[in-house]
Amino acid sequence: MANLIFHGAAGEVTGSMHLIEYKGRYIALDCGLFQGRRAQANEKNRNFPVHPSKIEAVILSHAHIDHSGRLPRLVKDGFRGTIYATPATHDLAAILLADSAHIQTEDAEFFNRKRRKNGEPEIEPLYSDEDAVRTMTHFLSVSYGRTLDIGGGIKIKFSDAGHILGSAIVEIEIPSEGNERPIKLLFSGDLGRHQMPILRDPTPMPQCDYLITESTYGARVHDNPVDMKEKLRDQIQMAVSRSGKVIIPSFSVGRTQTLIYYLHQLMHEGRLPAVPIFVDSPLSVDATHIFRAHPECYDTEARNMLNKMGDILGDGCCRFIHATEDSKKLNDFNKPCVIISASGMCEAGRILHHLANSVSDPKNTILIVGFQAMHTLGRRIVEREPEIKIFGRMYPLKAHIKTLNGFSSHADTVQFRSWFSGNGTTTKQTFIVHGEPEQQAGLVTLLNELNYKNVTIPKMGDTFPLN
Ligand SMILES: [Zn+2]
Repeated sequence: MANLIFHGAAGEVTGSMHLIEYKGRYIALDCGLFQGRRAQANEKNRNFPVHPSKIEAVILSHAHIDHSGRLPRLVKDGFRGTIYATPATHDLAAILLADSAHIQTEDAEFFNRKRRKNGEPEIEPLYSDEDAVRTMTHFLSVSYGRTLDIGGGIKIKFSDAGHILGSAIVEIEIPSEGNERPIKLLFSGDLGRHQMPILRDPTPMPQCDYLITESTYGARVHDNPVDMKEKLRDQIQMAVSRSGKVIIPSFSVGRTQTLIYYLHQLMHEGRLPAVPIFVDSPLSVDATHIFRAHPECYDTEARNMLNKMGDILGDGCCRFIHATEDSKKLNDFNKPCVIISASGMCEAGRILHHLANSVSDPKNTILIVGFQAMHTLGRRIVEREPEIKIFGRMYPLKAHIKTLNGFSSHADTVQFRSWFSGNGTTTKQTFIVHGEPEQQAGLVTLLNELNYKNVTIPKMGDTFPLN
């Protein structure tokens, strides 16, 4: 008999990790980093539900750090198995885990400076750059649509989730004693949206016995992604007509490439003012290269554009800035331009320099294209606080602030309804993970309406039999 054990993303949105136990073997679905309150997250990130040496495989739904970010710690603590992922997830994980290791090392150093002053023992980073590199030797790429036996008769298959490049819905078949048919477990990973640019739409939900579904926006309705191209153009046009700059804080993987893709189209259509567009973040530049290397993930529109234009991701219309010296030069650039930089919530990275240079000039626009969590600088900008603190200095916030809400890469309640429909009566039990309580409650109502039975919101450590 098999069991399903919930560990991370149970009643919260980070630390995604669920375990299948079958005949004394353990297989993990995702191995994500817990984020949020530092001390609490730190404690959770150092503890696994079973000793890592007992886990023989990790099936990784996609490369986002809240799904992959604890893999180097798993390896550091004794994991010797295989990490299965799509080829694009494999490549994105390499840059995202290296970046995360860098953040972990800096974070530990920040604490250790204080601890050294107080005569306290130093803390060790969650993992190092070397651990992240070692983690990559455990990866095995599995293309979309291939069924792979990962040992003991357990089979896995990835299909399009439409969330970020390489993201997958995971189907798992577990042999069932006494039954002719294996048990089918379906893990939504993070479910994307229809009509998102570049990526193919999510695959319709396959039939299953057990479903684990995310619920990030289970009770919300998003704006249409297709309208975002025109709204982006309008904002650039308006800022340029004031001789101002447009500063866009953006997540490096996914959101930045969506922006570049729209800008590339607008530029080719001759519908953008002739101003320079800078993509100023090493991680964003690296991620864009990986997007270029994986046209197998593109939808028909992106493929057609690629055939027609030779590139769809800013070649010839965006200037990609990797080196620190080149980024510094941008500080003296005083003409109208568009600057896309990270981090997406303005908490760190080069965006801080661009904000410090721009927020006090009413000619400029700060364009918000992603979710801004409570207590972040991005949130204070969205809430138009009269003054904001950057690098310890106060700056009056006089620039235009505009928020575009249609860029989300998560399914909303309308898309969940269409994805779930038709499989209610055949699914034995559904587990709702990866969501805040209000969003999870929305999904419970929806699933009940669609005749799903045994809809469950698991807590960390809860175990359920699969039979
Ligand atoms: Zn994600």
